[in-house]
Amino acid sequence: MPSPNLPGKPVADPVFKRLTLLGVGLIGSSIARIARLRGDIAAEIVVNARTRQTLDRVLQLGIADRVELDPAAAVQGADCVMLCAPVGAFADLAARIAPHLAPGAVLTDVGSTKQSVIRDVGPLVPAGVHFVPAHPIAGTEHSGPDSGFVELFQGRWTLLTPVPGTDEAAIARIEDLWRRCGAQTERMEPAHHDRVLAIVSHLPHLIAFTICGTADDLADESRQEVVNFAASGFRDFTRIAASDPVMWRDVFLNNREALLEMLQRFMEDAQAMARAVRWGDAAYIEDKVERGRKIRRSLIERKQA
Ligand code: NAP
Repeated sequence: MPSPNLPGKPVADPVFKRLTLLGVGLIGSSIARIARLRGDIAAEIVVNARTRQTLDRVLQLGIADRVELDPAAAVQGADCVMLCAPVGAFADLAARIAPHLAPGAVLTDVGSTKQSVIRDVGPLVPAGVHFVPAHPIAGTEHSGPDSGFVELFQGRWTLLTPVPGTDEAAIARIEDLWRRCGAQTERMEPAHHDRVLAIVSHLPHLIAFTICGTADDLADESRQEVVNFAASGFRDFTRIAASDPVMWRDVFLNNREALLEMLQRFMEDAQAMARAVRWGDAAYIEDKVERGRKIRRSLIERKQA
């Protein structure tokens, strides 16, 4: 995919002097790669991960100026700290870094759930540090520092969910960072974010994991046929189901209410579809398929397919 505004020499001053990424998988390493390439996001990039192995790989890839195994050491002197680990790790990470955050620094994140992040991290943020929760709506089923790429956020949305009273300049700097990553930004109320993401992302993943489990539970000979003859329908589910188990465990457990509400609605609609199939209600089935096609067409028109 072409990314005309990504490579090239810096055209503006860096948004931040030192950007620290806590977690460097698909999302963190994509940000590091873009920041490296553009030069106008951060003058210095410091990376922390849970394991030495990941940090060694980051050094080999050349996508950070410095790596630190200790998150507290990683955030020292940073004017932007971004949590890029699974959301279930945020509370512990925030507790470890809080005393070491520089006054005036912006603390942000990329977590897929927003109310839980505000609940877990918000109370730990020291006075004088600005907390700007955010979520890039872009991803693949791959994880780890090798999976990142510079086009990941190109033309996609990043949603910011700051709580009322957050420093406007800090929010504007995070918006600037994401636009330089190629994303469009929008501000959203955290509870609304979690409901929207429950239907567009979390429920589809839950269905994909479940359908793959159902296929795997089939008798041996049928299971082999599923693998041999997987047409695009099942194959598309397996792509989504190949996602990182820890990341998705944390997303489901941290967006519990919204996910369960959407699942309940989905199960009612699936029951209605089952009834239509049972009673041969052709018009109902056709109408549902047509609505699906319309949604797909509108995604293509908005270049979000
Ligand atoms: P990932 O590829 O699995 O990478 C996770 C990173 O976090 C790794 O560097 C890992 O270090 C580190 N980490 C894992 N557990 C940790 C812990 N307990 N404490 C500290 N660091 C830990 O993950 P990702 O896909 O980039 O996702 C990162 C965040 O982005 C998540 O919060 C997710 O909700 C959000 N997000 C993901 C997507 C997506 O499609 N993947 C899209 C939007 C937002 P080691 O390698 O050393 O274990």
